[in-house]
Amino acid sequence: MKVEVDRLALLLQADYPYTYCFSCLASRMGMAQTAVRDTAQVLILRDHQLFAVRRRVCIGCRAVGDLLVYSKPGS
Ligand SMILES: [Zn+2]
Repeated sequence: MKVEVDRLALLLQADYPYTYCFSCLASRMGMAQTAVRDTAQVLILRDHQLFAVRRRVCIGCRAVGDLLVYSKPGS
């Protein structure tokens, strides 16, 4: 689980300031969407200053929803 959490964190930081939905994240990571959501929960608990769920538009598929968002420290 730790490996997936780190992978997801790195991916979100690399994508910044763009945000992808869980479906797009899942296909990009080669994981099931439920697994990405579980991983996101762990990531948010671990680094709640940096990661949160916010209402956004996915840059990949344009879906609007509650997406996992990375907030750059100090911005
Ligand atoms: Zn998407």
